[in-house]
Amino acid sequence: MPRVRRIVLPWGLLAAVVLLPAAPVSPGEPAPPPAPATVITGATVLDGTGSPGRRVSVRIEGDRIVSVDASATAQGDRVVDGSGLVLAPGFIDTHSHGDGQIFDIPDALADTSQGITTIVVGQDGGSYLPLEKFFRRLERHPAAVNVASYAGHGTIRDKVMGDDFRRHATPAEIAKMEKLLEKEMRAGAVGLSSGLEYDPGIYSAPEEVVALARIASSSGGRYISHIRSEDRYFWKAIDEIINIGREAKLPVQVSHTKLAMRSSWGQGDRLLARLDEARASGVDITADMYPYLYWESTLTVLFPERDFEDRDAAGLVLREIAAPEGLLMTQFDPEPSYVGKTVAQIAALRGSDPVTTLIDMIRLSETARATTGEDVESVIGTSMQEPDVERLMTWRWMNFCTDGYLEGAHPRGFGSYPRILGHYVREHEVITLEDAVREASGLAAANMGFADRGLIQPGRRADLVLFDPETVQDRSTPTEPHLLATGIRKVWVNGVLVYTDGRATGAHPGQVLRRSAQR
Ligand SMILES: [Zn+2]
Repeated sequence: MPRVRRIVLPWGLLAAVVLLPAAPVSPGEPAPPPAPATVITGATVLDGTGSPGRRVSVRIEGDRIVSVDASATAQGDRVVDGSGLVLAPGFIDTHSHGDGQIFDIPDALADTSQGITTIVVGQDGGSYLPLEKFFRRLERHPAAVNVASYAGHGTIRDKVMGDDFRRHATPAEIAKMEKLLEKEMRAGAVGLSSGLEYDPGIYSAPEEVVALARIASSSGGRYISHIRSEDRYFWKAIDEIINIGREAKLPVQVSHTKLAMRSSWGQGDRLLARLDEARASGVDITADMYPYLYWESTLTVLFPERDFEDRDAAGLVLREIAAPEGLLMTQFDPEPSYVGKTVAQIAALRGSDPVTTLIDMIRLSETARATTGEDVESVIGTSMQEPDVERLMTWRWMNFCTDGYLEGAHPRGFGSYPRILGHYVREHEVITLEDAVREASGLAAANMGFADRGLIQPGRRADLVLFDPETVQDRSTPTEPHLLATGIRKVWVNGVLVYTDGRATGAHPGQVLRRSAQR
């Protein structure tokens, strides 16, 4: 559960960013010779469809896969010996917060080091506005990974309503939002994203979101949502997203799916049955998830009524959603010494009880936020249970994501995919390796509408990851969230090597994936 504000923030930092000039081009020089082909031999190829692996060679010319067979290599080919390793389509992170730092950290090591080759940003209702400007800047200063973006409902709502957002929008305001969204869709947004548990999205009427989803739909786009509640009103929120898919007639996706409240634990079957029933009734609903029992968000998001003095609400949070021992502060500007401590530890320090401490902490942070206008606190909260994570992972329409930042406080930013391949596939055998790769690549591409990525087939873009299934493992933890995973050996984006054995190559071949170009 990340935040909207941090995504919007980079515009404020633009002035501080040094713009590098483009590489000089002399018109008189002859064209460079074509780059040699790369041929990866000896690896077990998992093509992203879920089919069993095959020992074949994969030949890359330019940014495309040109053959997948037993063909011999030719003189001048760059040959990579993949013996004992698995070659898979590059992973597609369908819920990334990489947009916040992509210009500062274009190597995107958090992503490439776990095999991610495409990130889908503009999530939780927060995106760059206008996207066209973001896309053009990214084309001038590409990253190591491909980037696609949704247009954020929260960002658009903020543009139209400003500080007066704690109410339903008027028909005239919704019309303005529709115009803005139309423009973002023309720029190539994948669709509309929402963060209905956050400000300002939480104040929208369901009809407002449906109206905007209709605009995304008429442009051939999609809808993706951090739904209106991940705890108290979870089932109603699931009904809302299904209804949006039905009313606006577009594919809808539940972001970072979780059962994050005591009363929801053990209800994976009920949730998946509800989603399957919606699919059977004609709603194209899918979902993504990351493989951890704890989220990262703000303390305030835990109070849907936004009454931060309500002791009963605070008690419910600490009893039903996350215990004081399970709320670990990752940012707390009013009192930085609280960072790295849990609410339970902070309560002990203050000689107070957890409910009072939680309320006091939000009071401090809301005062600071009113002054700076920025987010001043964030927290990792443990709310999920292992059997539920395992159950959700097996759903046929569930693809994987990180919900991570390029240098964030939650270990998911560096560890999600290796954790799936190591912990859930190899050690616990929750899903097969073939299925895990499918959910990380082929299905993710389908769920985002990327027609030419996500599978290893001739003609597809050469986004690839070579990894060792016997050793792949995440190493990042809440105390050391940026430790690189082991076992990811090489990663190619558009045919160019971007990561090899523990380091970024410095190449930045990532493309902007505009919606029109994806079809
Ligand atoms: Zn979220």
